[in-house]
Amino acid sequence: MADYFAMDHDELTAEKTALEAQYKKFQGMNLKLNMARGKPGPHQMDLAMDLLKMDNYITDNGFDARNYGELEGLPEARALFADVFGVQPGEVFVGGNSSLQLMYNLVAIGMMFGFQDSPKPWGQVEHRKFLCPVPGYDRHFGITEEMGFELISVPMSPDGPDMDMIEKLVAEDDTIKGIWCVPQYSNPDGYTYSDETIRRFAALKTAAPDFKIFWDEAYIVHHLTDEIIETPVLLNEAKKYGNEDRVFMFTSTSKITFPGAGISAIACSENSMKYMCKRFSTMIISYDKMNQLRHVRFLKNKAGVLAHMAKHRRRLVPCFDAVKTTFAEELTPCGNIAHWTNPKGGYFISLYVMPGCAKRVAQLCKDCGLTLTGAGSAYPYHKDPDDSHLRIAPTYPSLTEVETASALLCVCVRLAVVEKLLADQQ
Ligand code: PMP
Repeated sequence: MADYFAMDHDELTAEKTALEAQYKKFQGMNLKLNMARGKPGPHQMDLAMDLLKMDNYITDNGFDARNYGELEGLPEARALFADVFGVQPGEVFVGGNSSLQLMYNLVAIGMMFGFQDSPKPWGQVEHRKFLCPVPGYDRHFGITEEMGFELISVPMSPDGPDMDMIEKLVAEDDTIKGIWCVPQYSNPDGYTYSDETIRRFAALKTAAPDFKIFWDEAYIVHHLTDEIIETPVLLNEAKKYGNEDRVFMFTSTSKITFPGAGISAIACSENSMKYMCKRFSTMIISYDKMNQLRHVRFLKNKAGVLAHMAKHRRRLVPCFDAVKTTFAEELTPCGNIAHWTNPKGGYFISLYVMPGCAKRVAQLCKDCGLTLTGAGSAYPYHKDPDDSHLRIAPTYPSLTEVETASALLCVCVRLAVVEKLLADQQ
């Protein structure tokens, strides 16, 4: 292997022939691998099976969890998430199995009614816009795209999104109604916002009185190293500037217990809580409190959650290592054809291939039985302007499958790059 950028036409052609032979071998293996979505593997979910053993449904204060009531969530479930978020129990709302659904409901409330500080419903705001740090989570972008917002990309760095750009945009334009953020172990780069970025979010001066920060702490306890990274809590920071009504923090146990049967939560100001509950109360009488109680009894508190996550980590670290080691061995010697992130937590690795090659890599992988998240998915409208980014999710397949998938992926990256270099020479 040598630097592709130092190769002449004949050397590149020979490399292409060699890579095509390797690719054919993989094709002959009839693979069926998937590194597309961030799903926990069966062994991770097995870790939480004791959750289902609950035989007592009466809560500490004598409430029967089988019945209606407690729209905001059982007090003990609110206390559990308050501990995880670092806020007060009265600032926590506990929902059903999906935090994404809570986010959707809040944007929908904004659209139909506006918030307590809205001059009019977002649905009546012409040219309404939402800020999207990129690369980001496709399902966030999908909600605001479907609800008719123009999506504005904001570049990410390892410290978080470009705050100079955000401060300027929101100060000038009152049709910008919010921003999507994954502040800890971001999806897909695995970056954690710096303390300074969080402070600047807390202090934002916005033209729109009803600008909302959708602060998705999906990976708040999903550490992949011994370092437990803790950052300032946005809701608490925002209070220092009188901006607490602007903040909605979210999390869920989807990647702690079961994605299909976990519990979710919002942290927000008491003002927002009152407003939100008024709106939610026409939609639902109360969420699944049996599941809330099961989760509290199983996880107990933040220390219990962290102890459980340490068990996940033991399974996940080898999978992440397999991807990174293969990339380093197979891609680094070829010169500057790709770079990737080294997350300290979360569920993803971002792979950035030579611009103009990501779609081709994903197609080559697909034709060989390896499904990746569609190239461009991490950008608004699924358009990566550089056609460079691929999101790698190493959590669901077994370690052996991750090793095979990583090796195949590297062959596809190298082949796509060689094809592009040859085409560029013509
Ligand atoms: N937010 C982020 C950033 C995610 O990556 C995911 C799942 N991939 C979700 C939310 C979905 O969470 P939930 O299962 O609670 O709806």
